[in-house]
Amino acid sequence: MEFFRANPGRDIKHPEVVDWLTEEYRKRTGKVFRDPDRGIRKLAQEGRLIKVAKGIYRYDPELEVKRELEDFTQAQKDEIMKRDGYRCVICGRRREDGIELQIDHIVPKDQGGKAEVSNGETLCAQHNFQKKNYKQTESGKRFFIRLYEAAKSKNDKQLQDFCAQVLEVYERNNVNGHVIWNK
Ligand SMILES: [Zn+2]
Repeated sequence: MEFFRANPGRDIKHPEVVDWLTEEYRKRTGKVFRDPDRGIRKLAQEGRLIKVAKGIYRYDPELEVKRELEDFTQAQKDEIMKRDGYRCVICGRRREDGIELQIDHIVPKDQGGKAEVSNGETLCAQHNFQKKNYKQTESGKRFFIRLYEAAKSKNDKQLQDFCAQVLEVYERNNVNGHVIWNK
C-alpha cells in the first residue's frame, strides 16, 4: 500500500510494484519477500486497489476514504453483538424483550469514526435514536451555559435568569447530564 499511496491515480503494471517491493523488503529486513503477486492480488480483492486489467492496478485515495467510512460488515456486527452479550449497552434489553438491536458507531462516521469492532456498540433502536438526538441537544446546553456565564459576568440578571430556566429544564429531564452547569 505504501507504494500505491505514493503513486495515486496511476495505472501500475505488476512488475513495477514487484520490483520495488522485493528491493525495499530486502533493504529493510534483509530477507526475501515471498510471493509478492499474491499480496497485491489480495489488496485488490479487499477492495483497496482497483484492478484495471489483468496485472494492472490503480490506487484511488478517495476509494480508501470511502472504504473507511463504510458501515460495519455483517461479521463485525456479529462480533460486536456477541461481545456486548446481545444486549443494548444502555438499558440491557435483548431481542427476547421485543426490541430491535442495532450497531452504533461510538465515534460517528462523519467525525472520523471508523468501521472497526472497537468503535461499535450494541444499542436498542430507542437508545440509538436518542443518542443521535441528544448529540444535538448537547451543543444547545453548552451554548446556554456560555450565555449564562456571560450574562452573569455582565450582571444581566434578566438574561441570566432566562438561561437558568432553560438549563433547569435540561436538569429536570436528565438530558446531557455529563455536561456540567455550575450555577
Ligand atoms: Zn436500550
